Amino acid sequence: MDLIQTLIRLALVDEEWDDKARRYQEARQRLTDLRELEERKTRQEALEASARAARTQLADLELELASLQERSRQVERDLYGGGIGSPRELENLRRESEQLRHRLAQLEDEGLELISRSDDLDARVQTGRADLEAFQAAWEAETAAMREAYQTLRARLQELQGERERLRASVPARELALYDELRRTKGGRPLAPMRDGVCQVCHVVVPRHKALVAEGGQDAVATCEGCGRILYQA
Ligand SMILES: [Zn+2]
Repeated sequence: MDLIQTLIRLALVDEEWDDKARRYQEARQRLTDLRELEERKTRQEALEASARAARTQLADLELELASLQERSRQVERDLYGGGIGSPRELENLRRESEQLRHRLAQLEDEGLELISRSDDLDARVQTGRADLEAFQAAWEAETAAMREAYQTLRARLQELQGERERLRASVPARELALYDELRRTKGGRPLAPMRDGVCQVCHVVVPRHKALVAEGGQDAVATCEGCGRILYQA
């Protein structure tokens, strides 16, 4: 391979390297990024905790309701059983019975509200669980595909690295420095094809002595007068 052929090959290797290295980084990022899955799990856990809290609250309320109902029945028995004759005592019982009825009505309303809230939360827990499972399954499938792509990319990058080193070792230091500089400043495209004595990147005419160099077979390179890239005969 002469110098210009080596540089053409090196440019191809570098271009592929740039593309695959970027995709490799993206794949690695995706594989280590568990944020969305973690966030979804946290949201589901919070929802389940709320549902449990509502159920506990409902159970407490039902206990209080049962105990007040029991007390209410007792008061009614005392009140209408005829066993108590003192008007003052009867008046107290009447008042207590009234208060109990009022409190019981209040608790029953709260209970209905809690049941409805609790049912709603349970339904959301079910839906949330199904959604999370579906998301996790899709995520795992995607991750498996991503892991495979990641390994393929890594293997190819290793090959490219080896080839790149071999190619660079055969390019003289001055031309290599020029190549690297152009790669850096010309958007990763250090070479320009020349056709019929014209640069195909910037369309500037190439002088004859440079065109001869660009045709290859020499240990030298020529750069375009317009865009500054290393020319090769296309
Ligand atoms: Zn040019």
